[in-house]
Amino acid sequence: MLIRFLCATSIFITARVLAAVNSAPLHVFVDPGHGGSDHGAVYGDAREASLVLSISLKLKQRLKSDSRFKLTLSREDDKTLSLTDRVNMAENSKADILISIHANAASDQRVHGAEIYFQNHLPPDEESLFLANLENQKQKELAPTKVGGEKQNLSKKGDVLSIVEDLKRQKRMQESFQLSRLFLEFFRKPASIKQAPFQMVVRTSIPSILIELGFLTNPQEAEKMLQTKEQNEIAEKLASSLIKYKEILDNKQSAHLQ
Ligand SMILES: [Zn+2]
Repeated sequence: MLIRFLCATSIFITARVLAAVNSAPLHVFVDPGHGGSDHGAVYGDAREASLVLSISLKLKQRLKSDSRFKLTLSREDDKTLSLTDRVNMAENSKADILISIHANAASDQRVHGAEIYFQNHLPPDEESLFLANLENQKQKELAPTKVGGEKQNLSKKGDVLSIVEDLKRQKRMQESFQLSRLFLEFFRKPASIKQAPFQMVVRTSIPSILIELGFLTNPQEAEKMLQTKEQNEIAEKLASSLIKYKEILDNKQSAHLQ
C-alpha cells in the first residue's frame, strides 16, 4: 500500500515536473540585421535591412499566440543598432537562444540558397586569439614562406585548444550546431551550414546562429524574396525549425527526469 502510494505520488510529481518543463517557454532573441543608416546589402529594389525586418516581424506574429515561445526582437522598426548594442540586448534579455537574420550578397550572380552559420563561443580575450589563429591559418595558405612567424604567433594555440575543450562552451557549440541542422532541415534547398566568427554568434553566451536567407545578388532569388508569399513561407520555415528545437529540448528534459 505504501509502495503503491509512493508510486502514485512519484508519478504525480513526475507529471507535475514534466508539465512544468514543457510549459516553460523558449525565449528566442531574434536579430534582424542592419537597419536605420545601415541598409545592408542593396540590389535593385531589394534592401536587406527591410527584408529581414519584414520576415522577423512575420515570425514574431506567427509564434505570438504559441505559449511555448517568447520572442524578443533587437529591432521592430527601421533603426540603427551597433553590433555591441545587439549583443548587449541579447545578453540582457536572458534569452535562451539567438537567431540573427540576414540576406546574402556575392560577386557571382548565379550563387543562391540559404546559409546557416554557427560558431564556438569564446570570451573576448580568447576570442582575439581565436581570430588571430584564423588569420594565421589564412596567411599560411596565402604565404607558406612565413611558417616560422606563424609558429611564433600561434604560441598560445594550446590555450585556445584547452578553451575549446571546456565542456560548457562545447555544450553551447553543440546546441548551436543542432539548431543549425534543424534550420537546414526546414529551409529551402540549396542550403548549407558554415562556420564564421560573426560577432553576433561569437560574442553572445547563448546558443546562437546567423542565417543568410538567400542571395540578393541573384536576380531570381531576390525577386522571390521580395514577394509577401515567399516571406510568409520563410517565416513559416523559421517557426517550424524553432518548434522542432523546442520539442527536442522538452523531450530531452522529460527523458532526463524520468
Ligand atoms: Zn547582413
